[in-house]
Amino acid sequence: MENISPALLEWFYQNRRILPFREDPTPYHVWLSEIMLQQTRVAAALPYYERFLAALPDIPALAACEEEKLHKLWEGLGYYSRVRNLQKAAKIVCAQYGGQLPADYDALRALPGIGDYTAGAVASISFGIPVPAVDGNVLRVFSRLYNDPGVITEPAVKKAFTARVMEHQPPEKAGDYNQALMELGALVCVPNGAPLCEQCPLAHLCAARAAGTAPELPQKAKPKPRRIQPVTLALLESPEGFLLQQRPEKGLLAGLWQPVLWENESLSAEETLARLQAMGLDVRGTRPEALPAAKHIFSHIEWHMGGIALRLPAQAAPAGCVWASREALKTTYTLPGAFKAYRKRML
Ligand code: SF4
Repeated sequence: MENISPALLEWFYQNRRILPFREDPTPYHVWLSEIMLQQTRVAAALPYYERFLAALPDIPALAACEEEKLHKLWEGLGYYSRVRNLQKAAKIVCAQYGGQLPADYDALRALPGIGDYTAGAVASISFGIPVPAVDGNVLRVFSRLYNDPGVITEPAVKKAFTARVMEHQPPEKAGDYNQALMELGALVCVPNGAPLCEQCPLAHLCAARAAGTAPELPQKAKPKPRRIQPVTLALLESPEGFLLQQRPEKGLLAGLWQPVLWENESLSAEETLARLQAMGLDVRGTRPEALPAAKHIFSHIEWHMGGIALRLPAQAAPAGCVWASREALKTTYTLPGAFKAYRKRML
């Protein structure tokens, strides 16, 4: 196949979206944006990106940020391990590299939370190093361009596609080329059905277009079915606010706050009251109100939630819990998106 980069780059310079991390692509900006964009669309991520940078303008500020504030800045983006890894990496960067990300692919790749793709994006976009940055967008474009039915979730296929990506990369424009491929995948060679081939600068080269197979590509492995977990919640309100409990330091939603709950259990109102009493709470004479059922999907687990709401008299919070006022819920404590269905009621 003839080299795609001239047509691709020309299209990119004329059609690229103006994005803050593109206008000022410092290593920190590119790194932060790539981590945010891993599970979030560009339009949704932009306000978070601006807010995060206003609060933590550089890597030393990120390294020094207090955990509760860090979680609050990420609230709404989900997948909180991403921001915890950002901070872990920032601390290493401060200790080992004087607070600046290293201009070296392998050194970037060795930092927590930075995989092949993010290391490639920072190295090529910010430092101009000719390395690949292959995400789902790029795999989709190449799968169609070569009409290759390889299953892109398989490491050997990804490796072979990456080698093709590099065959076309102009070393002096590595960052622009990588971004152009991602942009083409995001704007033109779009997922889920028919791509916009009539707008594509590579249409004359595209084998899947010629064969009429583009909508069926790329091939992906079937996702594993998610595990369904019942969860019983107790939404407890007293004159001091709502009772929140902190999740364990490791595992799902590590260290974040939640209403009192029991995972893997579908408890009746009576059983829930007994559990609350066992925690040391005075629930005598209260009348439980049933909470509406809600569902939250994590990548591999599905929570099916239900439970009770209760109004309690003023009393001390049990160990590991706090009474959080509505103001503190807005400004201090991070309530994960899993509890979105109950959040409105709490705020
Ligand atoms: S011609 Fe269509 S299928 Fe081929 S790369 Fe362009 S948008 Fe994708």
